[in-house]
Amino acid sequence: MNDYLIKAYAFNGTVRIYAASTTNLVEEARQIHGTWPAASAAFGRLLTASLIMGAMYKEDQMLTIRIDGGGPIGEMVTVVDAHGTIKGTIENPEVHISQKDKLAVGMVVGTNGFIHVTKDIKIRDTFTSSAKLQTGEIADDFTYYFAASEQIPSSVGLGVLVNENNEVFASGGFILQLMPGATEETINKIEINIQEMKPISELINEGLKPEDIIQLITLGDHEFIEEMPLVYRCDCSRNRFEKGLISLGQKELDQLSNEGHPVQITCQFCKKHYEFSIQEILDLVDLAKK
Ligand SMILES: [Zn+2]
Repeated sequence: MNDYLIKAYAFNGTVRIYAASTTNLVEEARQIHGTWPAASAAFGRLLTASLIMGAMYKEDQMLTIRIDGGGPIGEMVTVVDAHGTIKGTIENPEVHISQKDKLAVGMVVGTNGFIHVTKDIKIRDTFTSSAKLQTGEIADDFTYYFAASEQIPSSVGLGVLVNENNEVFASGGFILQLMPGATEETINKIEINIQEMKPISELINEGLKPEDIIQLITLGDHEFIEEMPLVYRCDCSRNRFEKGLISLGQKELDQLSNEGHPVQITCQFCKKHYEFSIQEILDLVDLAKK
C-alpha cells in the first residue's frame, strides 16, 4: 500500500478527520537517519502527525514542527508542506529503550520541553506557537497542543511497529477535530468508537486503509473530501548550500579556504554530501564581496 492521507467530514460537518498510512516513508526515514527502534517510533509518529497537520493548510504554506523533550534522542524537526511532502531530522537517531516489550517512546523523547509549530503562511512573517510536552508519546502532545495553542478539541492517534530486523512495517495515524456545532451525543459516540479501536499501528498492520480507520471512528457517518499521496522528499541542492556559504560572509569563507582542504557539507534532512573545493570556496568569496 502506498502512503496516503484521507480527509473526511463526519456527523453533518461538525467533525473533521484525517487518517494516514505512512509505513513506506517512515521506513525510508529510518534508512536515511539510521534510527534505532524506539527512535524510529518517535520520529515516525512525529512525521505522521506533521503530514496530517500540513494537510490542514493550503497551497504554498509550510510548517516546521520541533519537539525537544530533553530525552536521549534530543531534538526532532520536521518541515512539511500542504501537499504531503515532508523531510525531517533527529538529533540522536541511535537510541533505543523498551519497556514491557513496548517501544518506550515517551522515555526517549522526554517531557521536559515543548512542541513548537512555526507557520509560514506566506502573507506575513512566520509565527510560532508552542505547548508544553505532556507525555512525550507524541499523540498526547499534539492533542494538548491543539487544545492549548489553537483552542481546537482534538483526538490524536499515532503508531509505528518495528520488526526484529528493526525495519518499520506499519505506521500511521489519525487526527480528529471537533468543529463548532459538535453535539455531546456526537462526542460520546466518537469516544466510545475510539476506545473500542485497536492501536492504530496494529490496524495498519492488519491491512486497514486510512478510509477504514475513518469508518471505525464514525461507523459510517462521514463523507470523504480529499485523498493526498504522502512522500519523504528533500529539496536540497548544491545551489542552496552555495547560497548558505555565501551568506557566511567574506571573512568566514576566507578562513575556510585557508584551512587548505575541501569543505564537506552533509544535508541534515537527507544525508546527501556536497563537497566544495578550495577554488570553489574562493569563487564564493568573490560572490560574497558583491
Ligand atoms: Zn537534503
